[in-house]
Amino acid sequence: MSANLSRRRVEKERGFPSFCKKCGEAAKIFTSKTIKNPGRLFHGCPNGSEEDKNHLFKWTDESAVEEIENMKSHLELQSQRCEDVTRSYDKKIEDLGDALAGFGKEMKEMKELVDGYEKDVKNLKKMVVCGVGMMVVYYYFAM
Ligand SMILES: [Zn+2]
Repeated sequence: MSANLSRRRVEKERGFPSFCKKCGEAAKIFTSKTIKNPGRLFHGCPNGSEEDKNHLFKWTDESAVEEIENMKSHLELQSQRCEDVTRSYDKKIEDLGDALAGFGKEMKEMKELVDGYEKDVKNLKKMVVCGVGMMVVYYYFAM
């Protein structure tokens, strides 16, 4: 829980700020009117001022760069996960192919076995027919 919270705080510090840490006021976008940074946008606290610098102040362009970096690393993570999933599916398909090849081999062996039995049954039939025939002949001549 605490690890989760601290990570969330880091995420808040990077990218666009959403509130002032000092007073909890929601962040607003202002335009700088200083000589040094005229017209530059920044996220600030409505309660902040030139005199009180403890309230939220963050240049919006810097936040935007961080925001893009966050998105980039997030996307890289997602595409990495995607690759991992694809790789694991490839492995599963490979395993399935191996299993099917194994089944194919077993089926072939089974067919050979059945063919062998069929041959045995045919031979047995011939023997029975032959035996019965001999018995018939025996009874015919013995009577
Ligand atoms: Zn504030």
